[in-house]
Amino acid sequence: MFGYFGLGGIVFDLAFFQTIGLMKEQALSVVPLFIFMGYVVEQAGLMERLLRAFQVILAPVRGSLYIGVILTATVFAMANGIVGAAVPVAVLYNFFLDHFIAGFTVGAIKWPPAPGGGNRGAGIVDSHRGRHLESERLPGLPPSLEECMAVAVAAPPLLRDRRLLAIWEKVRNNIRLSPEDGLALFETEDLHGLGRMADFAKSRLHGERVFFVLNRYVNPTNVCVLSCSFCDFARKKGEEGAFENSIEDVLEMIKPGTREAHIVGGHHPDWPFEYYERLIGAIHAARPETQIKAFTAAEIDYLWRRWKIEPLQALTRLKRAGLRSMPGGGAEIFSARLQKALHYTGKADADRWLEIHGIAHSLGIKTNATMLYGHIETMAERVEHLVRLREQQDKSGGFLTFIPLAYQVGTTKLVPRQTPPTDDLRTIAVSRLLLDNFPHIEAYWVMIGEETASVALNFGASDVNGTLEDEKIAHMAQAESPAGLAQEQILRMIRDAGKVAVERDALYSVVKVWN
Ligand code: SF4
Repeated sequence: MFGYFGLGGIVFDLAFFQTIGLMKEQALSVVPLFIFMGYVVEQAGLMERLLRAFQVILAPVRGSLYIGVILTATVFAMANGIVGAAVPVAVLYNFFLDHFIAGFTVGAIKWPPAPGGGNRGAGIVDSHRGRHLESERLPGLPPSLEECMAVAVAAPPLLRDRRLLAIWEKVRNNIRLSPEDGLALFETEDLHGLGRMADFAKSRLHGERVFFVLNRYVNPTNVCVLSCSFCDFARKKGEEGAFENSIEDVLEMIKPGTREAHIVGGHHPDWPFEYYERLIGAIHAARPETQIKAFTAAEIDYLWRRWKIEPLQALTRLKRAGLRSMPGGGAEIFSARLQKALHYTGKADADRWLEIHGIAHSLGIKTNATMLYGHIETMAERVEHLVRLREQQDKSGGFLTFIPLAYQVGTTKLVPRQTPPTDDLRTIAVSRLLLDNFPHIEAYWVMIGEETASVALNFGASDVNGTLEDEKIAHMAQAESPAGLAQEQILRMIRDAGKVAVERDALYSVVKVWN
């Protein structure tokens, strides 16, 4: 930098004073002053700030500056009776002044560091030719100053894991990540770098906005014919703790003004399909303002196993009764190994779960997706699960949100202790990066706690679910979070993360932006 500054200044000085007819000795006397000025400014640490200011100021007027310099040089040369020298003098002025400016410009784009160290390389500006030279980090010609700044600001800081560099290039250029990339992300120790990449991907979709809904969880029953090893919620009929709510009970739970009712339950041995159809119809009639999100793909599959009603028919009838969307539960982990090990062979497997969501999407019913993690699954199984969801979304396109569900140790104790918050953040971040076709990734505060959920909003999550009021499934597994949150607590969770809270309905229509 000093070289540019000093050399440009000296040559400019010489050429200028020579042209206006001053003595060479007088011109040379100013040279030390230029060198001294450059030294002082650089030593004082002011150079970076000066360079940024000059870059911003000079960029829009660079072209005018060249023309002005050429004309001025020509006039000076002619006034001094050296018409023949006017052109070469003007070219010389342009060249040297230009490099003087180039010194500022190249210096200005050297901040801040790029992933993995070195220059961020937002674009090397060759002001001599008046155009941006494309750097290897920013393909596409020519990036504007604003674009360079935007990339520079949004890029993650130093990536300590070299494997992340190639992945970052893909993320930044919107290139789909491979399963191998997904595995590298789950394995990396650079959690901070991973989070910044996920936050970049999330911000590209939603800026600083984070969504929540005023909702109510409803479990019509916890009576279930199955006995999944990870489940603390289910009971056998007549067993202590079993409950069966009537339609009237359910209606009482959903207060007027509730924007979303989230309804899931056990695989009840006796309740016919018509009970569920009547339930949805009754809620819809009593609370028309409430959007009904009900029944996992596993429950829909069970209705077929138990009552032989095909998913297409069941979902068509439920939609007619008032169903608006479906939750993402029942997916667990798409792994035949785990299905067997954790005793959920009696419920919809991966193919069936995905098939039912595809059917729902074909009927215009939006759905969510989940993954139960933090137990005995492998990272490869997590990646496989996410990739299968991504493939299904490519086909049917109706998923709104992916919700990683942290296994609650409770009394089932598949592992000695709850997976740590770092794993929650990692899983949310990797999900954001792998599921490039999912609009939202959720930080489900019920299972990971309010504090971790708030941090997760800077790790790729764009949704915190909602107020819930009386969540049971996680709390029967001894989740330590409250069973419901007041709206003020949700707003605080989002604001603590430095994000903008957006109240939504079940289908992500914006109700209110909270400043
Ligand atoms: S996870 Fe669902 S299907 Fe399995 S036992 Fe619990 S309620 Fe029943």
